[in-house]
Amino acid sequence: MQDIDLKQYIRGIPDFPKPGILFYDISTLLRNADAWQLATARMARAVGPWQPDQLAAIESRGFLTAAPLATRLGCGIVMLRKPGKLPGDTISLSYDLEYGTDSLHIQADAIKPGQRVVVTDDLLATGGTLAASVALLRKAGADVVGASVLIELTALGGRNKLDVPVHSLLSYE
Ligand code: 5GP
Repeated sequence: MQDIDLKQYIRGIPDFPKPGILFYDISTLLRNADAWQLATARMARAVGPWQPDQLAAIESRGFLTAAPLATRLGCGIVMLRKPGKLPGDTISLSYDLEYGTDSLHIQADAIKPGQRVVVTDDLLATGGTLAASVALLRKAGADVVGASVLIELTALGGRNKLDVPVHSLLSYE
């Protein structure tokens, strides 16, 4: 399994969620226990040296990358969620989408001042979601030390929007 190219477990689905978009579907990777183990082991190897206290998981597929990474690295998880999902006091940040805006929230007491945080998601495209997440985490007091994604769409240049080191396991033009 060690030499396996994990790209064979990712499929591209044309015209999802809208015509003209090629959607990289990670469901086929998640379904394969050995391939998913290998993917998360490789991600953990890259993130480990950043020595995070917490992983910040972006709703919703970032929850899937965060959970195995946190278990492997022995750190906690904080959730970055869409509006109306988190109980108690939250801090939020709005960001622009292609059409309209969206916002992410974090519980106000989620981060102890200066904690080292690595933010994780399934995929980096334009970088808008990760850039907003980094800004929100800083607003909440985090020292954001890196970003970890399963897939990066390099042609969109998303990592240029980020001022933290980025690790992507698989990249596509
Ligand atoms: P960005 O903000 O970088 O443009 O988009 C990244 C966000 O959109 C991530 O939260 C990711 O889950 C989602 N996303 C965009 N395109 C895809 C895709 O092709 N496949 C998957 N799995 N997620 C995508």
